[in-house]
Amino acid sequence: MLKEKLLSIVVPCFNEEKNITQLYSELIPVVKSISTHYEIIFVDDGSRDSTFESIKKNAAEDKNVIGISLSRNFGHQVAIMAGLQHCKGDIVVMMDADLQHPPEIIPKLILEYEKGYDIINTKRIDTKTETSIKKLTSRFFYGFINFLSDIRIEPSSADFRLMTRKAVDAFLQLEEKDRFTRGLISWIGFRQSVVEYSASSRFAGKSKYTLKKMLRFGMDGITSFSSKPLRISFYTGLFVFIIGLLYAAYAIVQNIKGETVQGWTSILVSVLIIGGIQLLSLGIIGEYIARIFNEAKARPLYFIKDKTNNYQE
Ligand code: UDP
Ligand code: MG
Repeated sequence: MLKEKLLSIVVPCFNEEKNITQLYSELIPVVKSISTHYEIIFVDDGSRDSTFESIKKNAAEDKNVIGISLSRNFGHQVAIMAGLQHCKGDIVVMMDADLQHPPEIIPKLILEYEKGYDIINTKRIDTKTETSIKKLTSRFFYGFINFLSDIRIEPSSADFRLMTRKAVDAFLQLEEKDRFTRGLISWIGFRQSVVEYSASSRFAGKSKYTLKKMLRFGMDGITSFSSKPLRISFYTGLFVFIIGLLYAAYAIVQNIKGETVQGWTSILVSVLIIGGIQLLSLGIIGEYIARIFNEAKARPLYFIKDKTNNYQE
């Protein structure tokens, strides 16, 4: 029991109407066994179903439940940030709304906290609940990201973690717009530890990570922590340029010797390869420029449309 500490649970929710009450009822016994002071913050990330109504219903019955509704769907990572900015806890736990992050693990996180860690991450041990495609793409993604970037991210890590106030305050100082929470957490440092859990399948509803959202998430992960793709495109360009020079010399010699032939294949191959590399490099540069553009606009991360009455400034 951590009697005098305030425990905050931060839950981003996008179209999770069927999960809110279930999660709440599973959280309550766990949370009460940890501390008498607690708050559960549900961030409704522009849901189009009755998620916010469901949050309001729970808030009406329990003054420790706080609901914040964002003006539109800003994405999981921004919703987490909104929750962290509004929580007051000495200890903060962020978790998904779909019960894939089991509340029973929270006491294990607390045990690690008591050992003196500031951030306790979680790692999913493989279960049959994820499709093999998702497992494969996720493994490939983390391999790729760890190869490219300067930080290390544990594969199978999830946005289910405990943070102390000190770590939350540090995290809140990172104001970048394209947020890749896992990477930022690794970057801020502090004493970190990992707890394993086996994920269950979603309680209700479908995954909100469409292929498009996953690609965007992956791009954020790579571009926020590494400029290696830019360097790689430079070196690839250099390599192709040298080969091109050699080939050009060869072509001129052949021409002087009067041995030139039609050359359809060689022209086509070089045009395709060089064109491909140019487009790829431009695309990589474009990704970085898009991020600079996003930062330069300096827009707020999100807007709040509505809050439950329990929220006090
Ligand atoms: N989520 C969100 N905004 C989004 C997408 C997802 O707040 O735009 C929330 C979602 O409600 C859930 C968590 O982020 O609580 C993780 O999403 P999901 O379960 O769909 O991802 P998966 O577990 O399939 O990776
Ligand atoms: Mg999920």
